[in-house]
Amino acid sequence: MPTAKPLAARLAHIPPTVFSEMSALAVRTGAINLGQGFPDVDGPPSVVAAAEAALEAGANQYAPGIGVPALRAAISRHQQRHYGLEPDPDREVVVTTGCTEAVAAALLGLVDPGDEVVVLEPYYDSYVAMLEMCGARRRPVTLRAPDFRPDLDELRSAVTDDTRLILLNTPHNPTGTVLTRDELQVVADLAIEHDVVVVTDEVYEHLVFDDARSAEGHVPIATLPGMWERTLTLSSAGKSYSFTGWKVGWATGPEPLVQAVLAAKQWLTFTSGSPLQPAVAHALDHEPDWPLELARDLQLRRDLLCEGLAAAGLDPRVPEGTYFATTDVSHLGWPDGRAFCLALPELAGVVAIPTQGFYDDREAGRQLVRWAFCKERDVIGEGVRRLAAADLSR
Ligand code: GLN
Repeated sequence: MPTAKPLAARLAHIPPTVFSEMSALAVRTGAINLGQGFPDVDGPPSVVAAAEAALEAGANQYAPGIGVPALRAAISRHQQRHYGLEPDPDREVVVTTGCTEAVAAALLGLVDPGDEVVVLEPYYDSYVAMLEMCGARRRPVTLRAPDFRPDLDELRSAVTDDTRLILLNTPHNPTGTVLTRDELQVVADLAIEHDVVVVTDEVYEHLVFDDARSAEGHVPIATLPGMWERTLTLSSAGKSYSFTGWKVGWATGPEPLVQAVLAAKQWLTFTSGSPLQPAVAHALDHEPDWPLELARDLQLRRDLLCEGLAAAGLDPRVPEGTYFATTDVSHLGWPDGRAFCLALPELAGVVAIPTQGFYDDREAGRQLVRWAFCKERDVIGEGVRRLAAADLSR
C-alpha cells in the first residue's frame, strides 16, 4: 500500500453514490426497496431475443465508436417520429454506454476547468461528480419544494456571459417535474442571448403522465426555434424499455456537439456493447408503443404509491413524469431526510432515497425523501402498507 493518500482530490469529497448505499441497505435488512430507480419487470421479450440473435450472429467484437449504423438510424427515426427532429445518423447521433456516459462525455468534451455550468438542483448525482472531474464551477438553480418549479428570475440571474453550458434534466429526477414549453422558452432565450450550449438529459422522455401540468407532456428543448444548433439531447433505452442494466444511451445534436461527445467517449469506453445495439435498434423500430404502455401502467402505480404515502401521513408531491415521488418528512420530527432513510428499514421495513445530497443548498433539500414506483404493484402495496402500520414519528 503506498503511504500517500490513494484517492485523487477531485473525488475525495464526493461521497459514494447514495443509490448503491441504499440498495445495499435494502439487501442487508431485507427491506422493500423503494429507493434506487430500476424496474423489477424487464422490457419486451422480442428485444431480449434480438440481443440473443445478435450474440449468436457474431456481434461480439468492437462496434464502431460512434455506434452501429442500424442503431444510429433507429435513433434518428425515433427523434423524427416523436419530435419532428431529423438528426443525420452518420454525423448527428452518437451511441454511448448509458446516458451516464453521455453526460460524462458531453461535459468532458465541452467544459474546461473553471468554466461555469448552470444546473438545476436537486441534480442527479453523477452530474456533480462529473462537473467536479471537469473542474467546472457549478451555478445551481434550485427547484424548491413543494412544487419544484424553476424560479424564472433565479434562472435569469444565473445565466450570464460567463456561463459556458446549461445542464438540464426534464422530466426531472428526483422531483418528477416536467418542464413546460414556457419554462423551456425562458431557458432557450437565455441560451441564445448569452450564446450558451444546452445539454439536456431526457432519459424519462416517455415516462410522463397524461394529467401532467402541461398537457403537451415532454417537450425537448432542441425543438424550440433556434435551439437545435446549440443543444445536445441525451437519452437511453434503460428507462424507456426497462433495460437499465444494458447501458445503451445516445446523444443527438449538431455535428460539432456530437463530435465533442465522441472526442471524449473514445477515451472513456472507446465503443459500447456490440450485441445490445442492434437489439435496441429493434426496440425503437419494432416496439414503438412499449414505452407508452409502460407510462400508462406507471401512472397507476404512481397513484397507488402516492395514495399510500398520503395515507401513511407522508403527503407526496404527485410527479408529472419519471419513476419518483418526493415527500417532506420534517413534520414527523425528522428534520434530516438522511437520518429518516437510515432508520426506515428498522421503523417500517422500507428503503427510500434521501435527496439532500443532490443540492448545493443543503437546507433546500435536507428534509426531502424520494420514493420509486417503478416496482410491481404488490411490492408498492406492501411498502405503503408497512409505512401506514409503522410509527414514523420521531
Ligand atoms: N437513475 C436511478 C435512480 O435515480 C439509479 C441509477 C444509479 O443507481 N446510479 O434511482
